[in-house]
Amino acid sequence: MRNPDWYRDELILALELYLQSPANPPGKTSKKVVELSQLLNRLGHALGIRASEDFRNPNGVYMKMMNFRRFDPEYVRSGKVGLRRGNRLDEIVWNEFSGRPDHLMATALAIRKAVEGAPDTVLPEPSEEEEGFFEASEGKILTRIHRTRERNRTIVDKVKARALKAEGTLRCQACNFDFAERYGAHGEGFIEAHHIRPIHTLPDDAKTNLSDFALLCSNCHRIIHRSRPWLTLEQLQAILALRKAVAAG
Ligand SMILES: [Zn+2]
Ligand SMILES: [Zn+2]
Repeated sequence: MRNPDWYRDELILALELYLQSPANPPGKTSKKVVELSQLLNRLGHALGIRASEDFRNPNGVYMKMMNFRRFDPEYVRSGKVGLRRGNRLDEIVWNEFSGRPDHLMATALAIRKAVEGAPDTVLPEPSEEEEGFFEASEGKILTRIHRTRERNRTIVDKVKARALKAEGTLRCQACNFDFAERYGAHGEGFIEAHHIRPIHTLPDDAKTNLSDFALLCSNCHRIIHRSRPWLTLEQLQAILALRKAVAAG
């Protein structure tokens, strides 16, 4: 079996290592490269994507850093070209993260923490392969944590009970849709919970806070996850307000 192409999570980690010393990246046998190779193997196991023994070995990690070099203006300026091979996602991740060092560092740290905290068993596959559900910019493992929190029945029930007590209804916080109002008894008690914490902060809180959730109708929730980066609740609310204003003339 062939190992899969590198995922976003993995590319983010390799990019972070490369950018620590682009003029002089750590070599194949360096401690940093070996350590990253081990971490990627744990990630590969958690995601269930490790197909063979040579999965993300130190040589592969080193080559991936070299793949990034061809996008590095500093390197290219000196007339060099960098490794040609590599995937389209290399360039996408480079464009998304290389100019935002703080965000890159925070995201890489969150991925590391998520890998370290991952259970020994393979994480359940959430619905990120569903049509219209985009994996977050920050990669698969953090996406899975987000989805797992949203699907925690106990927490979600508490979030709903709290809203019901406070408001008397369960309304979508973006568009105001109320399932009970529209569908009568069939819609009673139904709404979805969306975890609103920035995704790179997810591994930090061991316990999930009820206030970290927004209640959304299924349409609004899907729309939030339908593009990358995911829309924030505020962005979705702004879009809806604008559409309403346009419709009203
Ligand atoms: Zn809605
Ligand atoms: Zn969500």
